[in-house]
Amino acid sequence: MLHDHNDTTMTCPCGSNKPFSFCCEPAIEGHKPAKTAEALMRSRYTAFALGAVDYIINTTAEENRNPEDAEIIAEQVQATTWVGLRILDSVAGTASDNTGIVEFSARFEAEDQNGELHERSNFRKENDRWYYVDGQIEIIN
Ligand SMILES: [Zn+2]
Repeated sequence: MLHDHNDTTMTCPCGSNKPFSFCCEPAIEGHKPAKTAEALMRSRYTAFALGAVDYIINTTAEENRNPEDAEIIAEQVQATTWVGLRILDSVAGTASDNTGIVEFSARFEAEDQNGELHERSNFRKENDRWYYVDGQIEIIN
């Protein structure tokens, strides 16, 4: 499912400086759901970086999933290299909350442009699992 997945000692793409296997991997592989909105956001960034399309879809709020998502996300994953994540703000979203907001900046490189995705995202918890709902997105070149 994941590319670049052979080296289990690699540092997690989310910028935590922890090994992937102790950071986002348990969530992405479905062993241990993300406990906080920020952890889910980080794991979704990592899933974009590594091409874990199913995880991205499965952690999107059901009402915002579309049948064509798999194809669109797979194309984005192919065309874009994610090169860095910074968390700018985090509101609620702890293990004892049911909603959360995370603001972040993610740098990317693509064939036609390099830039930065700046997003303030809304998250919601259902049955002890966090989901990405939606966000205000700005692309900065
Ligand atoms: Zn991580």
